[in-house]
Parts: sequence; structure tokens; C-alpha cells
Amino acid sequence: MASIAFERVTKTFEKNVVIKDLDLKIEDGKFTVLVGPSGCGKTTLLRMIAGIDPQTSGKVLIGGRDVTRIAPGQRGVAMVFQNYAIYPTMSVRDNIEFGLKNNKVGKAERNQLVETISSTVGLYDYLDRKPSTLSGGQRQRVALARAMVKKPAVFLMDEPLSNLDAKLRAQMRIELIELHKKLGTTFVYVTHDQVEAMSMADTIVLMNQGVIQQEAAPDVMYRKPSNLFAAQFIGVPPMNVGELGVEGVRFGFRPESAVLADEAGDEHFSISGRIATREMLGSETLYQVRGANHAFMIKCTEDLFTVDQEVHVGVAAKQMYFFGADGKRIDED
Ligand code: ATP
Repeated sequence: MASIAFERVTKTFEKNVVIKDLDLKIEDGKFTVLVGPSGCGKTTLLRMIAGIDPQTSGKVLIGGRDVTRIAPGQRGVAMVFQNYAIYPTMSVRDNIEFGLKNNKVGKAERNQLVETISSTVGLYDYLDRKPSTLSGGQRQRVALARAMVKKPAVFLMDEPLSNLDAKLRAQMRIELIELHKKLGTTFVYVTHDQVEAMSMADTIVLMNQGVIQQEAAPDVMYRKPSNLFAAQFIGVPPMNVGELGVEGVRFGFRPESAVLADEAGDEHFSISGRIATREMLGSETLYQVRGANHAFMIKCTEDLFTVDQEVHVGVAAKQMYFFGADGKRIDED
């Protein structure tokens, strides 16, 4: 069992309250992604699980056990960082073996573990190489392998892909999903990148300013955002939001939910405007439509309009979202 629970956890740095009375349950064996803007407290949560920087008050439980007084090395967790701590002068094999030697694991068992784990992360043929001769993605896998030899019940990952280029990041995302499937252990992954959260998570925990905004599977987070923050954080481009005539109430719709046409249709919501910008992205085109009071991003699968053209934006009633003055969603699910 390696579920994780935060019970009324508060974390302060000097007088600065970063996390206040936070309750959170992270399920055993699931890939959970903590996502949110810079400074929202994601890394702080991860470090509290690891025991590197313990909570000021409240409890953290791993596998049902209160770990408040348990040292980091005894918590059954392994952490993989953005700057993957690997030793540049050691071979891949020595890097992976390092922790095992420290723990006095016998040579035969070490060899077997190194072989199994290096095969799992696709490094078997690179065991004798030095990290400097590896690609960024391969180095990241060395860091993962180093964490794996500890056989942790929980993997904690802090923006492990942010030093990689876009293509490699996309590849590593798939590799991490596969690795999680193979290992079946609890993954807790921190990122500020909603694409990483959407593509890898079983559960997304979305945070802002130390407060959990929503906890849901990626598709639920996308279709049923619980507030304006969630609606605008998840999705690229973000949900379009505008003010209604009613005080404090706002409406929203996703860029791909709108229909663009020359003539006004019979949709629930219709507004006229002019195409201000056009970005052809390959399989779709992104238009910015500017009306009298609003500017909306609209994503179309066809590239039918040109800049300066007068158009009508139409959105069906069931594609509309409404938010109250406090930002909470107020329409029916
Ligand atoms: P990022 O995506 O930028 O890494 P984050 O969501 O992981 O951000 P944290 O690193 O958890 O954010 O930081 C949360 C808040 O706590 C920030 O306001 C930060 O300045 C503050 N903080 C973090 N560590 C310390 C520290 N050691 N001393 C003082 N303040 C800190």
C-alpha cells in the first residue's frame, strides 16, 4: 500500500503561509500530477512527502502510516528532479549501481537488478557509456533507473522533463506512462505544464496559491471545470471568457466549441466580429475574432476565413459555461 494523504497540512516559510490546512488523498498505484502556476506550492507538497522539508503542522501519511517522524530515506519514496542528479564521471552502470553498493547489496544481485532495470528504461546497451555521451532523454532515464533500484513504493518527480526539447519531452511522456504501467507503483509528478498533466495523469490535482482548485481525471477537468481558474488553466488556447450583462456573472466557451460562419446562425450564443489574426497550425486553424467588447480565440478544422473578414461566432447552449462572481461554475453539469 502506498497511498498518500495530507491531513490539515500547513507549511510556512518564516511568516509566509504557503500551504494552509490542506487535505488531499493520492491513490495507491495511480499516476497523479500536481499542476499549477509557478509558486503555487507544488514542489513544497512533493518535498513534504519526501520528508526533505517537512510540514509545519498537520499530518502526512504514506501507506496509511504517519511519516511525520520518519526520515526521508526510510519513507519508501524516491525523487527524480529536473536536474537529474547523475554522476558525470561514472558509467551508466555505476550510476545505477551506486545506491545498491551503498546499501551493501551483493554483486550477483546488483548485476541482476542493473540488467533488469536498465532494460526496463531502454539503457541496457548503454551501460558502459558515460553520461556525457548520452542524449538528454537517455540521461533522464539514467536518473529514473537510479530511482528505480531503490524499489520505492512512491516515485516523486519534480518537472523531470523541463530540460528536454519539445520532441523529446513528448517521447518521454509516453515512456513515463509506459513505465508507470510496468511498475504499477504510485507516481506523483509535479509540473506547471498542463499538457503534461493532461497527457499523463490518471488524476490531476490543480493548485493555485497553495489551494487545491480541482482534483479530477483529465477529461473531467476539461469538460467540467469547477471554477474559472480550472477552465482557463487547462486547454490550449484557454477557454474564452466574457462578461454577461448580469453583475459579476461570466460566460465561457472552448475555442473548438464555436462555429464560424458568414451569416448568423440559430445558436444560443452568437456574436459578430472581424478576424484579427489567423494562425494555420496544420490540421487546424486558430483565429482571433474581435467584436465590439470581446476578443475570442476560435479553433477550426477548416481554414476558410481570411484576416479582416466579417464573421459570426456561434456557440450551442450545451457548450456554454457560466461562472459566478466568486469564479465558481454555476451552470448544471
Ligand atoms: P515552480 O513551478 O516555480 O517550481 P511551485 O508551485 O513548485 O513553483 P514552490 O516551490 O512549492 O512552488 O513554492 C511555493 C511558495 O513557497 C513560493 O512562494 C516560494 O517562494 C515559497 N518557498 C518555497 N521554498 C521556500 C524556502 N525554502 N524559503 C522561503 N520560501 C520558499
